[in-house]
Amino acid sequence: MTLRTAQETLKLYFGYDSFRPMQAEIIEAVYAGRDALVLMPTGGGKSVCFQIPAITLPGACIVVSPLISLMKDQVEGLREAGVRAAYLNSSIDAGTAQQVEDAFFKGQLDLLYVSPEKLLSADFMPLLRRAAINLFAIDEAHCISSWGHDFRPEYTQLRFLRREFPTIAIIALTATADKATRRDIAQQLTLSDPAVFVSSFDRPNIRLEVRPGQKRVEQILDFLKSRRNQSGIVYCLSRKGAEDLAARLSQRGFPAMPYHAGLTDRQRAKTQEDFINDKVPVVCATVAFGMGIDKSNVRWVIHYNLPKNMEGYYQEIGRSGRDGTTAEALLFYSYQDVAVLEDILRQGTSDQVELQLSKLERMKQYAEALTCRRRILLSYFGEHLGENCGNCDVCRNPPQYFDGTVLAQKALSAIARLSEAVPAGIVAEVLRGSGRREIIDRGYDRIKTYGAGRDLPQNEWLYYIQQLVHLGYAEPAAEEHYALKLTANGRKVLFEDEKVQFARFISIKERKATEKEAAKKQEPQGQRRRVRDELFEVLRKLRQQVALQQGVPPYVVFSDATLEEMAALRPRNREEFRSISGVGEMKLERYGSTFLQAIEEFS
Ligand code: ADP
Ligand code: ZN
Repeated sequence: MTLRTAQETLKLYFGYDSFRPMQAEIIEAVYAGRDALVLMPTGGGKSVCFQIPAITLPGACIVVSPLISLMKDQVEGLREAGVRAAYLNSSIDAGTAQQVEDAFFKGQLDLLYVSPEKLLSADFMPLLRRAAINLFAIDEAHCISSWGHDFRPEYTQLRFLRREFPTIAIIALTATADKATRRDIAQQLTLSDPAVFVSSFDRPNIRLEVRPGQKRVEQILDFLKSRRNQSGIVYCLSRKGAEDLAARLSQRGFPAMPYHAGLTDRQRAKTQEDFINDKVPVVCATVAFGMGIDKSNVRWVIHYNLPKNMEGYYQEIGRSGRDGTTAEALLFYSYQDVAVLEDILRQGTSDQVELQLSKLERMKQYAEALTCRRRILLSYFGEHLGENCGNCDVCRNPPQYFDGTVLAQKALSAIARLSEAVPAGIVAEVLRGSGRREIIDRGYDRIKTYGAGRDLPQNEWLYYIQQLVHLGYAEPAAEEHYALKLTANGRKVLFEDEKVQFARFISIKERKATEKEAAKKQEPQGQRRRVRDELFEVLRKLRQQVALQQGVPPYVVFSDATLEEMAALRPRNREEFRSISGVGEMKLERYGSTFLQAIEEFS
């Protein structure tokens, strides 16, 4: 089998003109009969790597997948594209299972998705031995590793595949990249000299942004205003937080549903389904949400609170923008969030508290960073970006530095006069001359720096105090409720006139103004963009209708990326329609005339 055939198949079924980085090499390795281990981020395009060999080689590919909901999704997507695919797991009835098995046995399938339980079951084995198989694909292969986070005991039994089918290649795929997991996968599956592919974990289409966590609900409402019909997830720390936020957003005209472990299975399934089918745009969820859904048009992810570690953060933001078109990840950060999380970790029973605290520390550094965030994120995962990304808030709005020595002296002096016994919030309040009961009762209004910083709002003071910590002038003592201590360098600022550079604080108001300004600058293309956006909206609605008729999720009909290209290029005939990325032959036949007509009517 040649790469040429693979490429033609890619266009024919999936509608794409070229392979993404690594896909071609991986497919070649499979064609050469080699075992392969593929590490690619979510949305990187792993599936194509086994789907193309599955379609082009004689026989069927067995895909082992631990997530039943994902299986259904993938099979629906493949069928839409005209690929002969089916699945077997505990969710389907005996009659249907029989039909699938018959089709498989008669060679009428290109791909058969199975759960590990099914694969290992006694009745499936004889069938497996008699049918023609061209490849075993082990999806979410990290589940085999007890190192990883989703360990599945059944997965460890998959080693029988190599033993029973020594001549059939195995391809293992995962988005979890650490070395221990990688080694485990190869060993457990007894892969023989596998070709290993580790792609970049960068997701350049996801814009990264961190904002101070003040008035979060207001900020989210504001964010939603210009993203009305986009799908997005807000990750919240608690069930109650998720409930409250969903209610408040809904009240203000932005339909949102909660999702957390306290709801019934039925409620959760309904939320997930409505989200997948674009019936509800926003889900406010605790961490569990998003696993095992394949929705490619999640346009944004918001973290209402700081995540516990970079692994979790990256996994969650990675649920946006899987179709490769623009996506946004917005994280709210406050000093208090860190304190809360630290308390939770310390109270936990885990024997790995220290490790977890150090992971939290890295997360905090990311949130407080004044250099390109993507570089920090990728370097955490051992990857080094040669230059600044240009698509994070720091790159887009580089900090402006000023001589903050006087401000630093005021804050450090307040810390000293408060006997290094209070946390940042109270230091800021004292500087602001707060009349709050606790401040007065404790006599903080009688220290010399009380009210010395009335001219700045609380948030701004917190921002500078945070920088003092970052720069090593002050240090919160975790075991004393984060009371701030002066460091040796901090004393130098107080007593030896050491200079301090601060990054300037940008208020929400100011941020909005710059955003408006930036939008105005793009105005010349504005007219064209508006027309394109209107057409996109028309096509989006049409997609939803079509999806409803077909009984599949809208993104299975066409991805957002494909609709965007349609709206921008406005194809006028079948040939032009076929040239759109994401339009394969099946889609052209099924939907070409409907969408062409809508585009013509719009023009
Ligand atoms: P993963 O399994 O790695 O999370 P998928 O296989 O689901 O990723 O692919 C993510 C998205 O990228 C899908 O919408 C898929 O159709 C699209 N895609 C895959 N390969 C290509 C390609 N060569 N060109 C354009 N889009 C692609
Ligand atoms: Zn950047």
